[in-house]
Amino acid sequence: MTFQKSINLFTYGHENMQNVINIRLGSSHAYLVKGNAGYLLIDAGNSNMKNRFVSRIKLRNIEPEDIKLIVVTHAHHDHVGSLSEIKELTKAQVIIHSSEVKYLKQGRSIPVNIIHPLGKIFAFIFKRIGTLISFDPVEPDIEIKDEFDLRPFGFKAKIVPTPGHTAGSVSVIFADGTAFVGDTCFNIFPFTKSVFPTFANDVHLLLESWDKLLTYKLKRIYPGHGRPFKINKLKYTLKKYK
Ligand SMILES: [Zn+2]
Repeated sequence: MTFQKSINLFTYGHENMQNVINIRLGSSHAYLVKGNAGYLLIDAGNSNMKNRFVSRIKLRNIEPEDIKLIVVTHAHHDHVGSLSEIKELTKAQVIIHSSEVKYLKQGRSIPVNIIHPLGKIFAFIFKRIGTLISFDPVEPDIEIKDEFDLRPFGFKAKIVPTPGHTAGSVSVIFADGTAFVGDTCFNIFPFTKSVFPTFANDVHLLLESWDKLLTYKLKRIYPGHGRPFKINKLKYTLKKYK
């Protein structure tokens, strides 16, 4: 049975969204979602964010060991900077796409192709400040190439490859229409309707990934940067680029 079909088996209905805990860890968001047997963490922020992470989960009465699984949307320093420390703290398994593994193990960010005017400014800064693009290396526990079902881990969700920003970028899509897309979309420009990311190494693939996201009945999309948004904003941006 495909995930699309099995979505109807999930009984809590589309409007009852996941209880998402958003933890800002530096310049990006990490997200915690509760499952049947603990929490799923999506991304791990910039470097040196462990103390902030611990204080934020304690506020919610979540113990580090309650976090069972960490999905890495891609191996950029602002999403995996504190992954090593958080993995050690939580003992959670780390899942990442195989295309990103080399960078994660080496502790260096995937190089970026600059496609946005603002991106040129960011890239200039990143290149000048070398420490920003390196991070503590991590050995992942699970490497994926294709879609990956998270139901055996107690989460009504699956990981879907959404390449474009980087070759191994992935999104986590929950059966209730909640999606976590990493940097496949940015929502940092409040006065535009665009969710185009600041960097994309392959724009063609990125637009294909957006098409793929639109095949799901998504209700709410949580980007790595910026506020959550509705699917219409993605549809609008896609139209502009096609
Ligand atoms: Zn990124």
